[in-house]
Amino acid sequence: MSEERDRKTAIWRGTFNRCPNCGEGRLFTGYLQVVPECGHCHEPLGTYRAADGPAFFTMTIVMLLLIPAIGFGWVLFKPDPLTFFVVLTVLISVLTLVLLRFVKGAFVAYLWAHNERDRGA
Ligand SMILES: [Zn+2]
Repeated sequence: MSEERDRKTAIWRGTFNRCPNCGEGRLFTGYLQVVPECGHCHEPLGTYRAADGPAFFTMTIVMLLLIPAIGFGWVLFKPDPLTFFVVLTVLISVLTLVLLRFVKGAFVAYLWAHNERDRGA
């Protein structure tokens, strides 16, 4: 397990729900559950625990998008405050849930590329 792992390729594959090792098998079963091992190359993907890392990065990305969305939305459309609040809440919720899956895939692949598996500490 000392071979060099290609980080960029792994992260690209992980982002799109593919096994970071072979690019063939699926990374997730269901919405966010990582498969115990790859169905194609049998890489033990379940041992790479993302914990709350993906949630942190997703919140950061969404927040950085939310700030200009509030600013430009307010200036350009002069919306009713309550309507604006409701529209943004729905948009942000959907965006967060969609992004979370991509970010978690990339995160698990990053852990895989660095061989950061769960050591049961
Ligand atoms: Zn695989």
